[in-house]
Amino acid sequence: MLKIGCHLSSSKGYAAMGREARRIGADTFQFFTRNPRGGSAKQLDPEDVAEFLAFAREQGIEKILAHAPYTLNACSADPHVREFARNTMADDLERLEYTPGNYYNFHPGSHVKQGAEKGIEYISGMLNTVLKPGQHTTVLLETMSGKGSEVGRSFEELRAILDRVELSDQMGVCLDTCHVWDAGYDIAGNLDGVLEEFDRIIGLGRLKAIHLNDSMNPLGAAKDRHAKIGEGRIGLRALSGVVCHPALRELPFYLETPNDLDGYAREIALMKEEWKNGNY
Ligand code: FE
Ligand code: FE
Ligand code: ZN
Repeated sequence: MLKIGCHLSSSKGYAAMGREARRIGADTFQFFTRNPRGGSAKQLDPEDVAEFLAFAREQGIEKILAHAPYTLNACSADPHVREFARNTMADDLERLEYTPGNYYNFHPGSHVKQGAEKGIEYISGMLNTVLKPGQHTTVLLETMSGKGSEVGRSFEELRAILDRVELSDQMGVCLDTCHVWDAGYDIAGNLDGVLEEFDRIIGLGRLKAIHLNDSMNPLGAAKDRHAKIGEGRIGLRALSGVVCHPALRELPFYLETPNDLDGYAREIALMKEEWKNGNY
């Protein structure tokens, strides 16, 4: 069965997210570990976590995806910003040990005129201080659209980060369909070719999750504006092709489309229908 969910608000805690996911037909979900613009995380409530873990087991909710705040920039030129990134990620990973076996996704960062090479060095350096042996969360680098000076716009850049991480068994990649499209990877015209390239450069074994989004902009626009499924430039047929692709169909998919919960429920139902019918 297709495993698909969407981004949910974490303001009411884990158990509420689990119930909300189920209510809209989701099998999993994504959430921010704290305010997306940063700041300190809410105190973990052990009762809430226990209630969620029991519910998730009973309902088969698997591979929830914690998303780091957008402001986290591990490769800023400002040492204070880099320190904030390191402390935030270390704190997030500690807290995620209470819900073991899941994923933590982050944007590699923006190098702002220092060059991608310097950015890659900072990002891998941070991961080497933050990852600890025996941690139970897989940390995912997100593929980026390449707006501004974002690191992670190409498979090569992600590979260069992974190559420098010592505990790289704890690392994977989350492919965002809007971002790779905006970065110039033609998943609508040549999905097989893009996946072959991913496999050759990074290895498909590293691919752990998919952010399923349409894009408001044309291929290679380097913009990063998400659209609802079928309402953007990638289109429903191509996105169905992504969820149904033999190399991807077992992965968890997370919608980050501009939707309220009803909209997410409709997109989840639509993609399940497409998956069932093999419409691509
Ligand atoms: Fe993201
Ligand atoms: Fe994303
Ligand atoms: Zn995005």
